[in-house]
Amino acid sequence: MHQDKELRCDLHIHSCLSPCADLLMTPGNVIRQAINLGLDCIAITDHNSAGNIQVALELAAAKGIRLIPAMEVETREEVHLLCYFPSLDGLLTWDAIVYENLPKRKNQEELFGYQLLTDLQDEYVAKEDRLLALATKLSLSETLETVTSLGCVVIPAHVDRPVNSILGQLGIIPPDAGIRVLEISGNTAPVDFLRSHSELERYRFVQGSDSHFLHDIGRCGGTRGFRVNEELRSELSILF
Ligand SMILES: [Zn+2]
Ligand SMILES: [Zn+2]
Repeated sequence: MHQDKELRCDLHIHSCLSPCADLLMTPGNVIRQAINLGLDCIAITDHNSAGNIQVALELAAAKGIRLIPAMEVETREEVHLLCYFPSLDGLLTWDAIVYENLPKRKNQEELFGYQLLTDLQDEYVAKEDRLLALATKLSLSETLETVTSLGCVVIPAHVDRPVNSILGQLGIIPPDAGIRVLEISGNTAPVDFLRSHSELERYRFVQGSDSHFLHDIGRCGGTRGFRVNEELRSELSILF
């Protein structure tokens, strides 16, 4: 990685494995769009699954863009947490734990959408049968304890939203949770958010696009990604 400049990042993108994402969100298309926008680093953060990440990592490496192994997990409290791993191994270990703790409910494609796995040719090759967009049985504290032991960086997702955010569901960020960075939506500037949440001043912020469509990629803190400066990179040094 370059050591001397800000990185343009979008660390919250859903692939076609997430039932709510557009079918065109194949890893190959996501990566192509990110490169077209000049992004340096992205993460595919599907709901409760890392099923497309191994393929995405290989495609990204071949195209010369950095992709951080990641997932957006939903805890029992319906809190969305972005989990970023320094390596695929840690993510896959976590993925198996999440799958065991996912309610055994079949996806109804006509209601929720397709959950598609892709290959290195960027073709659809399989479907995930179990519905992914649900709260897992893992509590927030169980989740934090487990992912932390796997070397993961946890960033609570879209904390400015009333639903599925740690603030919306719990009202506070548990002070002993080891959380140091928060994500806010791509169209909310951290400085504006802090005006009404001065109690959160000690946290650092990232913005992610939470893209479900190709045209939304990079729309976070601008139209070409959120800029991760050196200070934030050192906070997230395990990933960068
Ligand atoms: Zn979310
Ligand atoms: Zn999301």
